[in-house]
Amino acid sequence: MQLTILGSGTLYPRTARSESGYLLAAGGQVFLLDSGAGTKRQIVRAGQDVFAIHHVFYTHTHVDHVHDLPGLLWTWAHASATQHLVNLFGPPQFAGFYEQLVRAFYPNISQKQNKISVTLQELRNANFAVGAVTVTTRLLTEKMGSTFCSDAVGYRFTCNGKSIVYCGDSSEESKDDVITLASGADVLLIDCGAAKSGQDHLTPELVGQIAAAAQVRLVIPTHFYPAVEKLPIKKIIRRYYSGKIVLAKDFLKIKI
Ligand SMILES: [Zn+2]
Repeated sequence: MQLTILGSGTLYPRTARSESGYLLAAGGQVFLLDSGAGTKRQIVRAGQDVFAIHHVFYTHTHVDHVHDLPGLLWTWAHASATQHLVNLFGPPQFAGFYEQLVRAFYPNISQKQNKISVTLQELRNANFAVGAVTVTTRLLTEKMGSTFCSDAVGYRFTCNGKSIVYCGDSSEESKDDVITLASGADVLLIDCGAAKSGQDHLTPELVGQIAAAAQVRLVIPTHFYPAVEKLPIKKIIRRYYSGKIVLAKDFLKIKI
């Protein structure tokens, strides 16, 4: 598998960090994990083909994780050479969110002249295969506030004996869920957005504790809000975790 980081940033606009978005090449397929603002262009800038993507996995519906979904649908619906099949995955209530989005942007997206065919699956605790990739999901003890979908899901992708976990936004509430999902994983791509505890994101301290408890081989902290970037993130994580640490940056590629 290969992970490409498209967006290691947040809702704060930054030249070097786009909003949440990750590509995972696995088993001959290309999966997109979340698609915050700028993701579509980041895919192209990363040298990847937007039309090679047929599976998009959403952790939750905060805008900085879903913003580019309408834009991607628009591209696939109008610029595909042949009918583009898209499988969308998301948390509970994601179907209702998608319906509202389609109603707002594309009242005619389901008509035959559009070159797109969309399926959608809401996920809680599930285990299924997408080609050669096993996808394991876990509903996170995490409330997303006043978004259409108040729940969030984490994902574990396994292919050829290797696995990577991504949970989107996490906090102290979902710490145990992340540890369970990530137990023994090769890579943990994890929210490290908070400089102080008690916020809606994980601190470097919590990232270190989770990575150590889950015994992952490599932890990739990401989703850096401005305040946390001023901290010695690696040093803090190292107090708890002795494995490999790579801080996320846009366009970084990691072989798994
Ligand atoms: Zn977020």
